[in-house]
Amino acid sequence: MNVLVTGGLGYIGSHAVLCLLKSGFDVTIADNLSNCDISVHKRLEELSDKPIKLYTTDVRASLSKIFEEDKIDAVIHFAALKAVGESIQKPLEYYDNNVYGAINLLETMSHYGVKSFVFSSSAVVYGDSGLPYREDAPVSAATNPYGQTKIMIENILQDLYRADNSWHIAILRYFNPIGAHESGKIGENPVGIPNNLMPYVAKVASGELKELSVFGGDYSTPDGTGIRDYIHVCDLAEGHIAALNYIANKTGAHTWNLGTGKGYSVLEIVNTFINITGVQLPYKVVARRAGDVPVSYCDPSKAQHELGWQATRTLTDMVKDTWHWERARTADERL
Ligand code: NAD
Ligand code: UDP
Repeated sequence: MNVLVTGGLGYIGSHAVLCLLKSGFDVTIADNLSNCDISVHKRLEELSDKPIKLYTTDVRASLSKIFEEDKIDAVIHFAALKAVGESIQKPLEYYDNNVYGAINLLETMSHYGVKSFVFSSSAVVYGDSGLPYREDAPVSAATNPYGQTKIMIENILQDLYRADNSWHIAILRYFNPIGAHESGKIGENPVGIPNNLMPYVAKVASGELKELSVFGGDYSTPDGTGIRDYIHVCDLAEGHIAALNYIANKTGAHTWNLGTGKGYSVLEIVNTFINITGVQLPYKVVARRAGDVPVSYCDPSKAQHELGWQATRTLTDMVKDTWHWERARTADERL
């Protein structure tokens, strides 16, 4: 089975590519290189010891060549812009890239009769619903264009299945992916100043950034800081294999949370990082970040029961692998 992975050189996509190859799938990647480094391609080939076909293309462009040259059986669609703050500044770019990109891809798939699709959605669709977030909770109106694009695409996928029930669709709502591949060869390396907590922490620990700002110390949580459901990126990648296997035999537009079900506060993350790595991590508590919910964690039981998938890696694994990757990356950059 050959899987087209859009955004396959990005953070989550690259880990999913390795996982797919390890599980016996063939992989074709399409990525426009807007938020990744081309060197990831070579690293993936080295780690898997296999050549990997790469199309350097935008998912909004004509994708016919890919479907004509390669026999594609299923698509995992990671390619998207993902910075919440930037999406508020540049809404049209986000709607165009994410929503139009998904529509163009789905139209092409439909044209070539490829109807198995796995979509990267997000916990952001839950907004302020009751905790823990369950898949049957009403999807709220997101507070930013990035979140709106995820909700819009989820709705498009549900409508698509209603109109043509030969589609096999998996909507995966990711919680907070962190960590890196155990090799230290691939991981998260955002362009510019990171928006997310873990890459920011890693860059403060390595001395690349001066100090972490902890957004909000006055939430009604035990230590006053925000709580999230962090999941190791390799557990997340494995969830995609489980979803692909499930939809192989079942039509529908199915939705699953991919998280651990356990929440950690910002200070718990910071302190675990300090304890495990022994490095200095200067931080100060500042005002809340606009649009943040106080607490977010999922009920992961639907994925456990239906997909037979469960996150197994601990917070210690997540921190160790982040730090291993950060040190390897900064050492490489110094060469
Ligand atoms: P990423 O930016 O590291 O990877 C996305 C990849 O897609 C990049 O390699 C980028 O170059 C490529 N890309 C972007 N727009 C493209 C386009 N129009 N055409 C072709 N390639 C394009 O992001 P990630 O963290 O790996 O996220 C992957 C997916 O998961 C995204 O859809 C994101 O919204 C979703 N998601 C991420 C998180 C998270 O915290 N990282 C959480 C929930 C959902
Ligand atoms: N956070 C923080 N400082 C940062 C980045 C994030 O305190 O520099 C906090 C943020 O307010 C939230 C948690 O860390 O409580 C996770 O934020 P992230 O942006 O990683 O994920 P998301 O908000 O998308 O869940």
